[in-house]
Amino acid sequence: MRHAQRTHEPLSLCAVTERAPRSFRCCVRSVQFLTDVEWGEMDFLLVDAPPGTSDEHISIAQYLTKAGVDGALIVTTPQEMALLDVRKEVTFCHKVGVPILGVVENMAGHICPSCAHKSDIFPAVTGGAKAMCEEMKAAYLGSLPLDPNLLQSCEDGKCFVERHPNSAAAEPLRQLVQSQTQ
Ligand SMILES: [Zn+2]
Repeated sequence: MRHAQRTHEPLSLCAVTERAPRSFRCCVRSVQFLTDVEWGEMDFLLVDAPPGTSDEHISIAQYLTKAGVDGALIVTTPQEMALLDVRKEVTFCHKVGVPILGVVENMAGHICPSCAHKSDIFPAVTGGAKAMCEEMKAAYLGSLPLDPNLLQSCEDGKCFVERHPNSAAAEPLRQLVQSQTQ
């Protein structure tokens, strides 16, 4: 729920998974966006919530709680600067009564498309999401490398795992989706 996304267009989840064609992902910055849209029938509604603990954030969390949200999927990057915010977010979820489904570590290393060398763009100097999860007693759901194929598939609105089944982020992403859709 945490990751702020630059697009405000609803984006089909098919961009990342081969299943769940009736799922939508949206960026929400106001309660009105949730209440005034006819969402229709769907398998999942992924709400991309802005980071922070502002009044607006509290209203969104309260609305989601009333609407029977399954929980928050918290997205972080491996470096301590991001984890500081995420710790606050975990505490925030506890406070407003939103269950935490788990934490995903995004941009965990970059795989070079030409030589497959892995470099850490955001070094996990304090142990990354995994250590933070142990400390905060949250479920660690895995790490996704920064994969140019994933970024391109999202840009094109195409199914990443179908297009690039052997790409670096494909297996961790498949496992993540599986863990949340079972
Ligand atoms: Zn290279």
